[in-house]
Amino acid sequence: TVQLDDVTVHFGRTCALEGLNLTVAAGETVALLGPSGSGKSTALKAVAGFVRPSRGRIRIGGVDVTDVPPAQRGIGVVVQQYALFPHLRVADNVAFGLRAARRPKREVQQRVAEMLAMVGMEAYARRFPRELSGGQQQRVAIARALAIRPPVLLLDEPLAALDAQLRADMLDELQKLRREVPDVAIVYVTHDQAEALALADRIAVMRDARLVDIAPAAELYQAPPSAFTASFLGGAN
Ligand code: ATP
Ligand code: MG
Repeated sequence: TVQLDDVTVHFGRTCALEGLNLTVAAGETVALLGPSGSGKSTALKAVAGFVRPSRGRIRIGGVDVTDVPPAQRGIGVVVQQYALFPHLRVADNVAFGLRAARRPKREVQQRVAEMLAMVGMEAYARRFPRELSGGQQQRVAIARALAIRPPVLLLDEPLAALDAQLRADMLDELQKLRREVPDVAIVYVTHDQAEALALADRIAVMRDARLVDIAPAAELYQAPPSAFTASFLGGAN
């Protein structure tokens, strides 16, 4: 479970996130939708620990992690700006969190192979990130995030850099993952409503640093709680 309680984030004088209250249960996927600049990535970065809230608390599994550094929160994160370690080969990138957790060597090898196979990158294990395309890097980033079996998985437009075919494949993989790893709480930021519908139990709509509506996906579409959500979901975005 990840719980945000009145979380507010400022960048200088810009208020990027205003009093966000959101609980994502173990086993639940919540998609964040909303216009560009509405605070979706900021919400994710606050949970990951990349930005510090000026107000509010963040709990993971009931433990207050607001003052815990990102690496010690035990979260899987796929955010484009925090990409792969450039000096490590693909396999070592995926192994990073497992080695940090001092998992036995055999288990690390096996888990790395399993994760690379999942994202179709087993042939690239010895490459460096700079020798991969953007989409391939993104797939390795997903493999790395999942390798540690995190209780919380944060995905910020993880499929945005992929072509249509790969996006469809990865969407299948993510759905499969949801079935195979039933206890993970997932926060999924996307511009793609089809992705949100395919993956999310609930969809949260953000506007101007605030959460305006949150409801089960079907409900949100059938009976949008606000005029903003109705027009946002209806229009191209
Ligand atoms: P997009 O859909 O374009 O990714 P978003 O909903 O993820 O948008 P955020 O990245 O959370 O939006 O940004 C929210 C607001 O905070 C925006 O006004 C943005 O300009 C501002 N902002 C984000 N990061 C910073 C930063 N490091 N410094 C200053 N302002 C920032
Ligand atoms: Mg963003």
